Amino acid sequence: MTNSPDRIASETSIKRGLDFIYRLANTPEGFDNYGSLLICCFALVGATSRDAGLRQLARSRAEKLARRWARVHALLPTDAGPDLILNFVLVRYALSRLGLRDAGLNAQIRRAAERFAPRELLGFDPVSESPPDDLSYRCDCGLKNQRGRTFCKQCRRRLKIRNRYRVWFEALVKTYVGERCGLILGARYLDVLKWLPAMRPYPVGAEADVEILRDAIYAVTHIVYTLNDYGTYRLRPVWLPQEFAFLKANVAPACERQDPEVLGELLDSLKAFGLRANHPLIIRGATYLLAEQNEDGSWGDPDEENIRTRCHTTWTALDGLRTYAWRGERLIRPEVKAMLKRFAR
Ligand SMILES: [Zn+2]
Repeated sequence: MTNSPDRIASETSIKRGLDFIYRLANTPEGFDNYGSLLICCFALVGATSRDAGLRQLARSRAEKLARRWARVHALLPTDAGPDLILNFVLVRYALSRLGLRDAGLNAQIRRAAERFAPRELLGFDPVSESPPDDLSYRCDCGLKNQRGRTFCKQCRRRLKIRNRYRVWFEALVKTYVGERCGLILGARYLDVLKWLPAMRPYPVGAEADVEILRDAIYAVTHIVYTLNDYGTYRLRPVWLPQEFAFLKANVAPACERQDPEVLGELLDSLKAFGLRANHPLIIRGATYLLAEQNEDGSWGDPDEENIRTRCHTTWTALDGLRTYAWRGERLIRPEVKAMLKRFAR
């Protein structure tokens, strides 16, 4: 007998979370700002869950949202910028997970992406430089400032800096989903992954800056997702021993910090490394998530105004709770194994 949370309670909780995201996806604000990622959310739940009912529900929602997306975005505009190109790629990747491919559209996206330099698409050029610490988030006034600036060129506000972990994992995601659709978004995935040793050691201890710690956790969970095709394969802890240890060490602090967003990613990544539902860390995290779900089915601060944060927190929490239909233990790109071995030295 184990003390793992009740399976029925988890299933109910996951469905309530998905319902919440779907309600937001059907608002103009949710769909316009976050539609491409929400299509990914439903497609991945539909492609990788063990529960057949959940797979079916998520899949049909992904397809509905994708049809709506296609009505608004029938063609990629010839002057499409990097953000729109990425949204197209995310939708293509999501649909490919449901077995729906569109080679013609992929070719269109490839041509559009070729017009941009690596720094325009990724913020840096992974071929020749490590992930930098001097890129800012887009300013509240809307301007994307040049690298190295600390104040906005347009409105003079102080800029918030994206730390190198965030810059790196965003590049991992972009290059990965790009290559899964047969195109290069700024650089090859392996040219981004090769900076993994430069990201070690990961921040530790209570004195670590929380924002840097959270982005370091996201960096590690996105190594997992881009090596196991987002919840498709199991990974061996010996392939990434430092990352495995770092994830395990952060479950209890995430519960204490009341951080369901990070916790959800920790749990599904640890499950990918083989931790089972009756492992004490998985029990601890799942118990926390089940207890902290909001009335409306979401997780996180219900007063948070950023709709992306509301959706993403709920998405990661339900991903942390659900059971995956693992298709064996492997790397989506077997050639990475030799690279990881070199990193271990
Ligand atoms: Zn500004």
